[in-house]
Amino acid sequence: MLTYIEPLYRPPSEADSLILQVTIGCSYNRCSFCSMYRSKRYEERSWDEIKAEIDYASQEYPNTRRVFLADGDALNIKTEYMLSILDYLYRSFPKLERVSCYAMPKNLLQKSREELVALKDAGLKLLYIGIESGSDTVLRKVTKGATSKGIVEGCLKAKSAGIQLSCMLILGLGGRRYSKEHALESARVSSIIAPEYLAALTLLLDDVVRDEFMSKFGEPFEPLSDIEILDELKMLVEHIEPIDDKKIIFRANHASNPYPIKAVLPDDRARTMALIDELKARPDRLKASYLRRF
Ligand code: SF4
Repeated sequence: MLTYIEPLYRPPSEADSLILQVTIGCSYNRCSFCSMYRSKRYEERSWDEIKAEIDYASQEYPNTRRVFLADGDALNIKTEYMLSILDYLYRSFPKLERVSCYAMPKNLLQKSREELVALKDAGLKLLYIGIESGSDTVLRKVTKGATSKGIVEGCLKAKSAGIQLSCMLILGLGGRRYSKEHALESARVSSIIAPEYLAALTLLLDDVVRDEFMSKFGEPFEPLSDIEILDELKMLVEHIEPIDDKKIIFRANHASNPYPIKAVLPDDRARTMALIDELKARPDRLKASYLRRF
């Protein structure tokens, strides 16, 4: 049977995928806003464990088309090991079309382009990457362990290897003081990377990390109101200009967002900005804060 070590997270778009836990926790686990894996110590599951799970799942769910490799940064595992897992997955599930996982910018920087090409050729087709912000000030204050330069370098390397990217930003992450810088720099970095998918979540601090977040921020953190979040989102949408005429499928429809927004950028820019203005004028249309979760 499949044994999950809780808590288990997956992107909303992997709701119908088989989740296979190849690592436990996050190899970094120090982003000050993130409580997801605080209860876990990072480790990689043994080949015997992973093989047994694949053997079981291939009997129970033989028609599996998509597999998501958990936990927080499964791409941290050595390339050879990941290639073995991918090979066994595709041999075990004849209808398998796509394997994906979360990755940190650091994971991408630590692998060569050739390694990423090998992983893509072996069927690792999509990476979910939390870039959170394009602002180096904000990245430093939330102890992301990454710079905007490293994020761009890592993401472009993955893209040049043919791997699709789904990147995530967090609205409100810089508080009131850095809101403009956060929006503009996030738009700049997103435009250069031009990921296939871009999601803007909204900051919601779990009690487990609240004090740590405030203290690491290094100055009083002023959270954004719903209207200010919409202002930040509008500034982001206004300034995303994907390079080489690329299109970005943009989503701000996570459970943490005050209102679900979907767009293709830059085509839907004007419509999306007009919608945001409408929402600012009608805050009663926003989701109640107690219904939101990160
Ligand atoms: S945000 Fe990602 S990299 Fe940072 S601690 Fe959480 S899971 Fe790890």
